[in-house]
Amino acid sequence: FPEDLPDRARVVHAAQAGGPEVLVATESALPEPGPHQVLVETAAVGVNFIETYQRSGVYPTQYPFTPGTEASGRVLAVGEAVESLSPGQRVTTMEADTGTYASHFLVDAGKAMPVPDEVTDEQAAALPLQGITAHYLMNSTYRVSPGETVLTHAGAGGVGQLLTQLLKAKGARVITTCSTEEKAQIAQAAGADYVLGYENFADRVREITKGEGVAAVFDGVGRDTYLGSLDSLAIRGTFVLFGGASGQVPPLDPQDLNRRGGLYLTRPATHWYLRNAEERSWRYAELFDSLTKGDLKLSIGAAYPLDEAGRAHDDLENRRTTGKLVLTA
Ligand code: NDP
Repeated sequence: FPEDLPDRARVVHAAQAGGPEVLVATESALPEPGPHQVLVETAAVGVNFIETYQRSGVYPTQYPFTPGTEASGRVLAVGEAVESLSPGQRVTTMEADTGTYASHFLVDAGKAMPVPDEVTDEQAAALPLQGITAHYLMNSTYRVSPGETVLTHAGAGGVGQLLTQLLKAKGARVITTCSTEEKAQIAQAAGADYVLGYENFADRVREITKGEGVAAVFDGVGRDTYLGSLDSLAIRGTFVLFGGASGQVPPLDPQDLNRRGGLYLTRPATHWYLRNAEERSWRYAELFDSLTKGDLKLSIGAAYPLDEAGRAHDDLENRRTTGKLVLTA
């Protein structure tokens, strides 16, 4: 373990569940890597909606709590069993072992991915969680075919813009929703064929698809949209519920799926789609490739200093953001 390391880290934590104001920056001891871990000096941190559910107590969480699983940075020290990485390398991850809303964090060496030279630190922090999500949703949860029409909500958001771009690259027809005119332009620039408001969106989807409905819906909005999402599906269509930005969906009667045409329902999460090194490498390689070729554009909506993480949460929860939010360490 090198001796010239700082002995303190700057860490954002929540002492208890609450609003964005519970996120406070403080100092703590620099964490030491276990045998299979690396210590990373943070460059940029990816902010994700799940951290607002954890901070507010919507998801069961132990406090004090330091949010964040996604960040980029430089390896400072490696555990004794680590051979794949060495100090100085630039890495990114969405699977850190200690909270990434911090100046330093620990991550299993197998889950820290080397960053290509052409990719900036901010891009490297912005890509993994939302990029892997978009990748697994359309390639593995429901395998979208060229020419198929699908609906994805919140098309100006982080996942929304990436999913739209990847779907268009695959040759799908994309219908999306969003809440303002400014967001509609952003969703359109990401490639969406149809951008709708949320009101009566299922009726509009029926019109666009000549009564048939869409093959799949990717819904991260949840409570406010799930009934319309179910009503937008074609017979035997797939409802992919992947989040609850507007609130969690209440329990569903399986007959609701039967009545609407023998629908399929799934509620996926990233860890079910990063099951081993092979799956992880495949998804990252395709995303980095699309990014460096220019096929995939990352839209970083805002960057905040680490100490202002609470402001980032407030903006995200109150629909004031587009694209990805990052914190800079
Ligand atoms: P976004 O950037 O998409 O932000 C959320 C967006 O949801 C808002 O900007 C807003 O867009 C829309 N929205 C609709 N209704 C509401 C509401 N009542 N309150 C707040 N926002 C609302 O966030 P992310 O891309 O980070 O995440 C999108 C969703 O995907 C989240 O639900 C998240 O939990 C989920 N997710 C799930 C993963 C998984 O593996 N299961 C992984 C990653 C994310 P508009 O104003 O246009 O409606």
